Amino acid sequence: MTDQLIRLAAACLHRGEEPPLGGGRPVGNLFFAGCNLRCGFCQNHQISHHPEAGVSITPAACAERMLELAAAGAGAIGLVTPTHQGAAVARAVELARLQELALPVIYNSNGTDGPTVLARFDGLVDVYLPDFKYGSDAIAQNLSRVSGYVARARRAVTVMHAQVGHLPDDQAEGEARRGLIVRHLVLPGGLAGTARVARELVGAVGDGLWLSLMAQYHPDALARTGAGRALAHLHPELARPIATAEYDQALQDVEDAGLYRLFTQDPGASPAEGRPDFDRPEPFRWS
Ligand code: SF4
Repeated sequence: MTDQLIRLAAACLHRGEEPPLGGGRPVGNLFFAGCNLRCGFCQNHQISHHPEAGVSITPAACAERMLELAAAGAGAIGLVTPTHQGAAVARAVELARLQELALPVIYNSNGTDGPTVLARFDGLVDVYLPDFKYGSDAIAQNLSRVSGYVARARRAVTVMHAQVGHLPDDQAEGEARRGLIVRHLVLPGGLAGTARVARELVGAVGDGLWLSLMAQYHPDALARTGAGRALAHLHPELARPIATAEYDQALQDVEDAGLYRLFTQDPGASPAEGRPDFDRPEPFRWS
C-alpha cells in the first residue's frame, strides 16, 4: 500500500507506438512528470525536465484514468517514465486490476530501473518496453547526465526478461500481450553506440529479443532546453536528424550482433505529428 501521490503530466490515446502495442488500437498512455535522466534532446522535455508539470493525484485516481482510457478505446495501458514514482504507480495498477482492467499494461522506461522498483511491478506489468540508449557510459553522462548507464540498463533488461520473457513472434505480428521489447534510438554520428548496445543485449537476454530500432531522432529540443543548448556545443553532430546511411549502419550492427527480430523505422519519415506538444490538451496531433 502507498498513500504517495502521483504527478501525472498527461493521459491520452496514442497511435505512434510499435504496431503490436495495442493490437491495432491506440495505447492509453499515462505520462508521469519528471525523469531521473536529463537528456538534452528529449522530445518530452516539457514534462520530463519539469517534475512539477501536470497534477498530483492519488493512486486511486490514477487507476480511474486507466479505466477511462480503456473505455475510450485503448488496446493497452502505457506507463511512460514511471520509474521514479514506481511504488505509487504500481499501486495504481493494482487498483485498476481490482476494478477489472483487463488490458495489457506496458512499462515504458529509460532502462535505469533498479531491482527494487522492478520487483514491485512483477506480476503487474505484461509488456516491458525499456530503452537501451547508449553503449558508452561517457556518452550517457554527456547526453543524459547519468552515471554507469550501460551496466544499469543491462541489469534492468535482464530482470525484465526474467519476469516476462521474449515477446512471442505471433504477438509481435498481432497484439503484444506479454514479453519484452527494447527500444534503441539511433543518434547522429554514431553517438548511441549501437553495435555495443546490441552486443550487450545479446549477452544479457540472448538473440530472441525483439528490438525496436528507432530512426526518429530530431534536434528540435536542443534549442529549447538548457541541457540541450549545452549539449549542442559539446556534440554539434546532434544538430541534425540521422542520415539514411547512419540508420543502415545501425541496422547492420544489430544484425551482426545476432539480433534479427526487429521493428524498424524509415529514417526519411520523422513526421512532426509524432513529436508531442504537452502544452496542448492532446499532446500528439495523431492522438
Ligand atoms: S530518459 Fe527519456 S524521458 Fe527521460 S529525459 Fe531522456 S529522453 Fe526524456
